[in-house]
Amino acid sequence: MSMKVLVTGGSGLVGQAIQHVVKEERGAKEGEEWIFLSSKDADLMKAEETLALFQKHRPTHVIHLAAMVGGLYRNMKYNLDFWRNNVYINDNVLNAAHEVGAIKVVSCLSTCIFPDKTTYPIDETMLHNGPPHESNFGYSYAKRMIDIHNRAYFQEHGRFYTAVIPTNVFGPHDNFCIDDGHVVPGLIHKTYTAKKEGKPLVVWGSGKPRRQFIYSLDLARLFLWVLCDYKEVEPIILSVGEEDEVSIKEAADAVVQAMGFEGAVEYDTSKSDGQFKKTASNAKLCRYRPDFKFTPFKQAMKETCDWFVANYDTARK
Ligand code: NAP
Ligand code: GDP
Repeated sequence: MSMKVLVTGGSGLVGQAIQHVVKEERGAKEGEEWIFLSSKDADLMKAEETLALFQKHRPTHVIHLAAMVGGLYRNMKYNLDFWRNNVYINDNVLNAAHEVGAIKVVSCLSTCIFPDKTTYPIDETMLHNGPPHESNFGYSYAKRMIDIHNRAYFQEHGRFYTAVIPTNVFGPHDNFCIDDGHVVPGLIHKTYTAKKEGKPLVVWGSGKPRRQFIYSLDLARLFLWVLCDYKEVEPIILSVGEEDEVSIKEAADAVVQAMGFEGAVEYDTSKSDGQFKKTASNAKLCRYRPDFKFTPFKQAMKETCDWFVANYDTARK
């Protein structure tokens, strides 16, 4: 069957990784067409623009990545915007996909949207079991509603619209903006500047919270598998193992090593730590893909740091 895949958010961190894997590793298959969108193609917060874009391309498959995205400190400031913008985008995209008859949509949730008070490890069945962490409730509830959409599209229309749940992602083409972005790109940018100016690297918070990081290229490879071979409506966590969870301090140490930074490292404990941990189980993924090999964290970190240094002038920052 010929496949026309529309990727919303195709210009972002995850979208660029999928472009790389499709073009450089997997190669587009016979009868397969990929279209990578950015916000320049349409403002997906607007229903008419979204529908017109989908009517123009008439995709059979959709990877839905577009979202208002940010790190802990941006989420804490703009819960209302994260809620409204993402609810509109998701409703418009899923409705437009259905209207043009797309047979599969894979959307993107996040392990940070799970209940805050929970047992560990978190698994796919626990998504709606209690309130999310207060720092990002707007983003979390908006993302959780994608799962409601997917279940309802299946119930009323038999659609196989599903979602993946990645942990913290990092890699080339990330948003390296220090105030708004996530921890890894923020630390890489701060280390670059500290090295250039001969100043200390300041890590925000205590360094004690724990995170599972997935390399954007590994996530992209798994996304393609989900698009082509995963048949469930229920979401699937895409994560490294629990044993690969690291503290923020360990992540900062990995950045320091990869950047060859020899200055002092300080911790600003006046800044929030956010959620302490969100340890996720990748047991479901391992059942489906026991063969999948994640890129070692330090190698992925080195590749990302090298990319940032080489692309400093044009990187998002
Ligand atoms: P990103 O780099 O910030 O990219 C966001 C993408 O969304 C960009 O292509 C952007 O287009 C597009 N976009 C934003 N608002 C839009 C709008 N109103 N209309 C059309 N397009 C719009 O984000 P990312 O990190 O790749 O995230 C991709 C997905 O993964 C998101 O759904 C996110 O929630 C999820 N996720 C991310 C992480 C993480 O750690 N980064 C973790 C878990 C889940 P422009 O480039 O034109 O602005
Ligand atoms: P989260 O995983 O959803 O909480 O989002 P982030 O990727 O923003 O990670 C936040 C964690 O990293 C918190 O524990 C912060 O205290 C810590 N952190 C340390 N330095 C930084 C930084 O420069 N930027 C960000 N965003 N977080 C940092």
